[in-house]
Parts: sequence; C-alpha cells; structure tokens
Amino acid sequence: TPIIEVRNLVKRFRRESGAVVHAIDDVSFTVGTGDFVVLLGPSGCGKTTLLRAIAGLETPDQGTIRIGGRTQYSSAERIAVPPERRNISMVFQSYALWPHMTAFDNVAYPLRSRRGRPGKREIAERVRAALELVGVGELERQYPGQLSGGQQQRIALARALVSNDELVLFDEPLSNVDAKVREQLRFELLSMQRKLGFSALFVTHDQTEAMELAHRIAVLDSGRIVQFGTPQEIYARPATRYVAKFIGAINESLGTVAVIEGNVATVDTDLGRVVGRTHGRTATVGERVAVMWRPERAVLTRDEPSTVNRWPGSVTASLFVGSHTEYVVTLADGDARLWSPRSDVVAPGSSAWVSVTEEDVLVLPVD
Ligand code: ADP
Ligand code: MG
Repeated sequence: TPIIEVRNLVKRFRRESGAVVHAIDDVSFTVGTGDFVVLLGPSGCGKTTLLRAIAGLETPDQGTIRIGGRTQYSSAERIAVPPERRNISMVFQSYALWPHMTAFDNVAYPLRSRRGRPGKREIAERVRAALELVGVGELERQYPGQLSGGQQQRIALARALVSNDELVLFDEPLSNVDAKVREQLRFELLSMQRKLGFSALFVTHDQTEAMELAHRIAVLDSGRIVQFGTPQEIYARPATRYVAKFIGAINESLGTVAVIEGNVATVDTDLGRVVGRTHGRTATVGERVAVMWRPERAVLTRDEPSTVNRWPGSVTASLFVGSHTEYVVTLADGDARLWSPRSDVVAPGSSAWVSVTEEDVLVLPVD
C-alpha cells in the first residue's frame, strides 16, 4: 500500500474581504512507501495547506486522505483522525523548538508525550542516537537561543526522526539556513532517508532543491497539481508552459501552429518557421503556442549550420562561469540565452547562428 493517498482534496479559505481562496483545488496524488516526493510551487500556491491537511492540522472541505492504507480524513464518511493519532512527524521552516528546553528535551518531547511512552533509559538512548544522526550529539545540553539556525534545524530534524514514524512531512525546512549549510543538509537528509527508510513529503518553492532531493516532484499551481513526475521527466517534458518556466532556464518564442504531423509541429514565429515536438499533446493548426528550448540544448556557431531550426543573431554578452559559458544572443524576436561548454566560440559583438534540433524544441499551448 502507498504511504499517502490523497483523493479529490478541496480546502477553501474565506478572506476578511469575503473573497474565497481555493487553497487546495481538487488535488489527487499518491506517495509510494519509501519515496521522497517534493511538492514544488511558488509562495501562496497551497503547499503548506496541503501538508497541514495531511498532518491533520487543517480540516479540508472535501476529499479523502489515507496514510498507510488507513483513512485519516474522509468528508463522505465523516472521518477526521486528530493529528496526534496519525503517527506523522513534521519539520517546519521556523524550527519550532521550545526555547525553555535543552536540545535533549526538545528531541525527547515527542517520545514523552505520546501514548506508549518508552522508559527513561530508552528515551535517553533514542534521543542521543537521533542527535548523533543529525551531527549535533555534543549540543544536547544547549538551549535553542544559544545555537545557530543550522544547528537548531538539525535538532528539529532529530525531533522529527526520533519517533521512527514511517512518514515525515517537511515544510520548507531549509529556507532559513544559509546557503552552505542548506546544501549540506540536503545531502544529509537524503542519506538519513536511505538509512532510516521513512517516506518523505517535502515542500519547497526552490526548484534546485526539488530537483536535488526528489524521487518525484509534484508541481503545484494555484492549488492544483499540474505535473507529477521524476525530475528528469519534468525538466525534459514539462506538461505546461508554467512548468517549463518554473523549472530551469528556458527560451521561448510565441507563434501560431502552421502544420501538424503526429508529434511534430511547425510553428510560424517572428524567428520564421520553427519545428518542434508536442510530445503527445494534441495541437491544432492555427493554435497560439510557445516554442521553447533549454539554454544547454542550443548550439552557437560562427557559420550557418544545416539544422532546420537555425536563426541568425548577434552575441551581446558572454559570461564565463567556470563549468560553461553563458551567451546572450539577440535574435529577430529578442534575446535568447544559451550555454556552451566552450568560452571561445564567438566574441561579444559578433554575429553568429543559434541552432536547436527539433527534438529539443518543445511546443506548448499559450493559455
Ligand atoms: P504556500 O505554502 O504554497 O505559500 P499556503 O498553503 O500557505 O501556500 O496558502 C495558500 C493560499 O491560501 C494563499 O492564498 C493563502 O493566502 C491562503 N490561506 C492560507 N491559510 C489561510 C487562512 N488561515 N485564512 C485565509 N487564507 C489562507
Ligand atoms: Mg508555505
């Protein structure tokens, strides 16, 4: 059985102005046992509300939530299991540690407050093991106010892991720690997950973080899941223009479909005719679409290439960033970005050609 099954979940809020917000708008998805799933979307798209509904901290209006095959919430069956009986751990953005308790007591808290509370010695062993696991064994006697943000978040992590729950929910836990610590904690979190075997649902607005952590990503837009897939699928085959732009850098030109042959669309744009792929999505002649391509899939040359999609332009900037060079090329309809492993292709100020194979051009509807 999957660890999480959410079906047709709806949660509305009424603002003080009287306006109704569809924070969760008919969401359905499944998280497999042992999976690491990331909910990704901009601020205000409903991530926290969805996580809180799963934890039982927010009561939905409609739908069902099952954890490990057991119904935790069902509007039809009038079931709403209280949060403390769902056996789920949660890590918040604002560490949420008790300021008057030591690190040890903070981590011991969930063990002491649940039913079937273990004995004193077992509590001490488990708390120390959890603190060791997150690399702060030496801080057990410190109070949160004496610790850095990164250390506090490690203690919050230890507190979430100490109960050995099968499911751990994370609400942007790394966004308050500085960049270096954040990257390190991402790696550590993945190895802890492999070691302990818990299933994770992790919320973030940071697409890089989502790509690094996730087995699968659910992209949220205004309370709806617009795509659910592996990071590779979402990057290479974004389902919508919104997803394409939200994840990774991408160039686009707007145009109208002129010819459709199976998965191949020919589009009239200000760059001329561009040939790309619809990837199974139905497109119709005359439809307004965007043709999009990733900066690292484009090729920059001094001489005119023979590729079908080739556009003349002039190089306005070249930025050497070590691993590659980022070029800005002004084309007939505006600036395009492209990344090349070489830094010496064309000097800024010169004219050049940009080419992209049809396999690397995505054709997506403009809504
Ligand atoms: P995210 O975590 O993705 O930033 P939230 O789940 O916090 O998004 O919020 C989703 C939407 O629901 C937002 O428009 C937010 O203003 C609204 N919202 C969240 N909680 C409440 C509340 N308690 N009362 C009214 N509106 C709320
Ligand atoms: Mg939030």
